[in-house]
Amino acid sequence: MKPTGALILSLLALVAAPVDALPRHDAVPGGVAVVALPDTVRDPAVSFGDAPVLVSRDGEATYAVVGIPLAEAPGTGTLAVKTANGSSVEVAFEIAGRDYATQRLTIANKRKVDPSPEDLERIRAERVRIDAALASWRPEVQAPLAFRLPVHGRESSPFGLRRFFNDKPRKPHSGLDIAAPRGTPIVAPADGLVVETGDFFFNGNTVFVDHGQGLVTMYCHLSRIDVATGDTVRAGDALGRVGATGRVTGPHLHWGVTLNRTMVNPKLFLPETIEGLTTRD
Ligand code: ZN
Repeated sequence: MKPTGALILSLLALVAAPVDALPRHDAVPGGVAVVALPDTVRDPAVSFGDAPVLVSRDGEATYAVVGIPLAEAPGTGTLAVKTANGSSVEVAFEIAGRDYATQRLTIANKRKVDPSPEDLERIRAERVRIDAALASWRPEVQAPLAFRLPVHGRESSPFGLRRFFNDKPRKPHSGLDIAAPRGTPIVAPADGLVVETGDFFFNGNTVFVDHGQGLVTMYCHLSRIDVATGDTVRAGDALGRVGATGRVTGPHLHWGVTLNRTMVNPKLFLPETIEGLTTRD
């Protein structure tokens, strides 16, 4: 699968994220690896699996900022790095394990747990739109690596929980839930472009914002959407209001963050101490 005649090197990257840099390096399933690229690599195009990867410059150093799938096994990950002159380099990085907690939820609306055949058809069609939004790629945009909190509230469900709905195993929790009163404004955490909005079966009223280079954020269960596809937003602009649409147990924002088409822990893009976010403990 590698281009013939290309220079192939295999080396284990030194993970040397700059101090205080965001997102934080947390190379686990559902986390982010900030991988220093070799000095010799200029203007690289990086991919992980079949997805392009965000590349960031910090002074002289160049970093690949890689989303690691929740389903990825611990071990060695490999980035394919293509340089402007056409040569290729492989850069390896280590993925550690992470044990996420288990959560059991009871959903009163059984249809949201066991969808009907018609619902399944709707869900499939929506999946195509969601995947397309999450696959947005604008290589020319310098992606922001630090976010502001999109809504103040209580962390009601952390990222990565292994979940059971009405005792049935379902996909792990791939976002961060922030509970807040219905109608609380939700703001863009950084500059971006609205690439999709709609009313989805599970996610309810949802907004997708593309921040460049595959960094895409999603806002679910809104009571009201205040933007339209094609809108440019600045950090702090209103996207909509907190609600309880879709598969929910109460009003909250489900906030998803995607890198290289992979849902990652949104907290890695926020400061270590997050003002405006309270936890249960
Ligand atoms: Zn959620």
